[in-house]
Amino acid sequence: MEQENKLFQEVNEGYTMHDAIEEAKRCLNCKVPQCKKGCPISHDIPNWIHELSMGNLGNAMDIINSKSNLPAVCGRVCPHEKQCEGHCVLNKKGKGIRVGKLERFIADFDGDMGLIREKLLPKTRGKVAVIGSGPAGLTIAGDLARQGFNVEIFEMEQEPGGVLMFGIPEYRLPKDIVRREIKKTEELGVVFHCNTTVGKDGLNVDKLFEMGFDAIFMGTGTGKPKKLDIPGCNLEGVRQAIWFLRRVSLYNEGNLSRDEVVVKEGNKVFVIGCGNTAMDAARTAVRMGASDVQVVYHRTINDMSALRSEYDEAVEEGVKFNWDSSIVEIHDDNGTLNEVVIETKAGERRTEKADLVIMAVGSAPASRIVSTTTGIDVDDRGYVLTREKPYGMTTRKGVFAGGDVVNRPSTVVLAMHDAKQVAEGIAQYVDAIKLLEAINMDDELKKTGDNK
Ligand SMILES: Cc1cc2nc3c(=O)[nH]c(=O)nc-3n(C[C@H](O)[C@H](O)[C@H](O)COP(=O)(O)OP(=O)(O)OC[C@H]3O[C@@H](n4cnc5c(N)ncnc54)[C@H](O)[C@@H]3O)c2cc1C
Repeated sequence: MEQENKLFQEVNEGYTMHDAIEEAKRCLNCKVPQCKKGCPISHDIPNWIHELSMGNLGNAMDIINSKSNLPAVCGRVCPHEKQCEGHCVLNKKGKGIRVGKLERFIADFDGDMGLIREKLLPKTRGKVAVIGSGPAGLTIAGDLARQGFNVEIFEMEQEPGGVLMFGIPEYRLPKDIVRREIKKTEELGVVFHCNTTVGKDGLNVDKLFEMGFDAIFMGTGTGKPKKLDIPGCNLEGVRQAIWFLRRVSLYNEGNLSRDEVVVKEGNKVFVIGCGNTAMDAARTAVRMGASDVQVVYHRTINDMSALRSEYDEAVEEGVKFNWDSSIVEIHDDNGTLNEVVIETKAGERRTEKADLVIMAVGSAPASRIVSTTTGIDVDDRGYVLTREKPYGMTTRKGVFAGGDVVNRPSTVVLAMHDAKQVAEGIAQYVDAIKLLEAINMDDELKKTGDNK
């Protein structure tokens, strides 16, 4: 276990104070900052980099806090090469500013030193229930708590964090970092109820309204994995990537034994798909001791949705890639998976020995919440339908949704971006109903006064 824990150590090292400040000093502080344009949540990047370059870490953190509740996470897992860093004008001269690594440095320093103590508003504006504690739920909760709302999160897992805790592996995003970010949300006065599934044991949307919540937010993600209907796909040795990653995460935390993780020392593992999840599953299989890990993808390297950097690191770690190829059959010997048949686009077929096939071909929303109440409409794939005004409200009054459960599987920062707008929608809605309630109460009082 100690040996494996070492393998799960974070792969990318952070900056030292000296290196962070040197890097920050390279920033040109452009008048029209392209990095900010490249950031979905429009982080005021040049401003906090400028503060850092002068050694003012508290000010830098303050600026970051005004836009993000998860900077230590975003600093690690955002696709920076496509966003802030990709847009930096210094790329034309060779090397753009390492914005993600700087954000991570400031957030980690704040996590170690507790630089910021926010002044909290009294929680008088209303009561909001948040279902799910992934990036969308945590963002809504943080933004609304800061604005004076009472927020309670209902999370079905034993710990909050969603994909951050049970999907993205430890070597890319250490769980203690996620816990530290969540603690900050807790310190804003947000209450967490873990091991609590909405849509089960009598707890549903109607019950939450009965409990006195003024609005409800669904940030429940896309936890239902898709399956390819290949002959042999129902064998024991065919597993879903998100199931596998969750179990490894539980094992790393000491909550499962080694036997309960399907990849064994020396196994030959095939991963179907070529997105982030596939890369994580393949690299995790390597860390669990598989001797041969191959990704099989029906298109080309240029079509993969995984980040180039993720792919490069997977190759470095020994993962092999089969492009323009599909697994078309999975065979067994007395119920134990033992072979896969791979077919290329050109029609060539080969059979290879295999111990395990991991599917990473996408996911969709579960229907637990919408099927246990009425009035929340979804599209034909189960994604929740929402409106523009108030932003994020579903077809059921007072119920809002955002993040992947609305917009399809995307990224942490895009789920946060959506959630920030939904937080505004919820604040407007709750303020409006409270105002109407106050007017109606005034009218009632007048009427009873008239009657006297
Ligand atoms: C393996 C993997 C790797 C990824 N890597 C990256 C990456 O490197 N960078 C990046 O930007 N993005 C990455 N992503 C995508 C990113 O994690 C998601 O887009 C993001 O987490 C979506 O946030 P969310 O809050 O909408 O949903 P989620 O993070 O899925 O959170 C949903 C939460 O709702 C809870 N929930 C669901 N139903 C209920 C219920 N009925 N009652 C109570 N709780 C419920 C779930 O337990 C979960 O905690 C990755 C995704 C995966 C699966």
